[in-house]
Amino acid sequence: MSIKKIGIGLLVLTLIAAGLYLFRAPISLAVAKRVAIQRISSNPLKDLPDGLHIAVCGAGSPMPDEERGGPCTVVIAGQQIFVFDTGNTSARNIGKMGFNPGLIDGIFLTHFHSDHIDGMGELLLQRWVSNANAEPVKVHGPEGVDTVMNGFMQAYSLDRGYRVAHHGDALLPQSGFGAVAHSFGLQDDKATLVFEKADTKIYAFSVTHAPIHPAVGYKIQYKDRSIVISGDTTPSANVQREAQGVDVLIHEAMSMELMKLMQEGAKAAKRDKLEQLMKDITDYHTSPVEAAQIAAKSQVGFLLLNHIAPPLPLPGLVDVFLQGTSDVFKGKIQVAKDGDILSLPAGGKTIQTSSRF
Ligand SMILES: [Zn+2]
Ligand SMILES: [Zn+2]
Repeated sequence: MSIKKIGIGLLVLTLIAAGLYLFRAPISLAVAKRVAIQRISSNPLKDLPDGLHIAVCGAGSPMPDEERGGPCTVVIAGQQIFVFDTGNTSARNIGKMGFNPGLIDGIFLTHFHSDHIDGMGELLLQRWVSNANAEPVKVHGPEGVDTVMNGFMQAYSLDRGYRVAHHGDALLPQSGFGAVAHSFGLQDDKATLVFEKADTKIYAFSVTHAPIHPAVGYKIQYKDRSIVISGDTTPSANVQREAQGVDVLIHEAMSMELMKLMQEGAKAAKRDKLEQLMKDITDYHTSPVEAAQIAAKSQVGFLLLNHIAPPLPLPGLVDVFLQGTSDVFKGKIQVAKDGDILSLPAGGKTIQTSSRF
């Protein structure tokens, strides 16, 4: 190619780039219009095959993490949407993944540590306003769920008045605001059935998160597929029993090695109380290797580690986090991030992984 032709080519490219720059506002507006129409009219539920699906709406812990918000797991069973725990980014991540919070059929809480409920208010509001719901959503949990939900209802009662006054009862029916708490009891030696509808069963069982009582995990069955969510726990015989042969075990995991680094950092900074706090929180969680041991003993198909602590800001830290896990569990292990999707179509054994972020 001659120098003249290259020069002409560069000139054309420069003119195109300059044109795009000059007209960036109208171009962006046109794109935004198309995206807005697509987003509002899309319903990802329709694209999913019949089965169980996991959408991670918060894979983190109370520690700030760029890739992981507060604990939140969406489970789709057939066409029903359930949310397990409502950490701080729940509503935003559910929206970012393309799901309509107005279609949430039920919320389940594992325990009442603040990081598992601090997105509740925003999620309840989104659920109400996104679909003009005339009935409040049910929030299921162990004893204490009434206290927590009464508090949210009270805190948001003025806001309810503002919204109805602004939009009118036809658009935002007062009756659909907020939640109704459904408390359930627990048994020592077996799980309690807490939800049943057609092909869907949800069970709750006690886990070990002392001194936090009660604390539960959940088992979700839809047709021939099943998932267990450990909740916050040390290695638990109940999780192992309930996870026996399930397709996916979603287990909390904390790297004790990396937490030790944080303790040492606090010590070096002479922050004694922070050092003790970092030490305390290691005694009611599970290490990745311990989670892998439970997955192996329960013979699950897939181990999804979540409630990831501490944050893993460098790619190499994921390897440190997983060190030793593949020695004890030979199945697939994934360290959850917000936006992760696991699809379990009914009538088979396949597990498809993808991300919506
Ligand atoms: Zn937690
Ligand atoms: Zn907790």
